[in-house]
Amino acid sequence: MKKQISPDLLYGRQLVVNKNYPEYDLPAQVKREEAILQGSCQRCGQKIPQWAYLPTGTYCWSCHMLGRLTSNDQLVTLAECNQFTVTENFLDGKAV
Ligand SMILES: [Zn+2]
Repeated sequence: MKKQISPDLLYGRQLVVNKNYPEYDLPAQVKREEAILQGSCQRCGQKIPQWAYLPTGTYCWSCHMLGRLTSNDQLVTLAECNQFTVTENFLDGKAV
C-alpha cells in the first residue's frame, strides 16, 4: 500500500520519488521532473562528475547531504496555489 501525502507538503517543495518504485500516492496535478537530466542535477544545478556513476545510474555528489539523488529518481512538486499578479509598481505607483 502506498503512503498518502498531503498536497500542502508539496507546495514549493521538491519531493524525491523513485520512478521505478513509487512509494507515495500523489495528487494527479503534481509536476514531475527527472532528477538528473543531461548530466546535470536538477535539484542543485551541478554537473555530475564522471566518477559519480553507480552500476544502476548516476548520483549527485554535490547535494548528497540532502539525501541521495540518482538518475532513477524524479523531483515532484506542486505549483504554489496562491499565485498573485502584480498590477502596480509599488515603488513609483505606476501600472506595470
Ligand atoms: Zn545535486
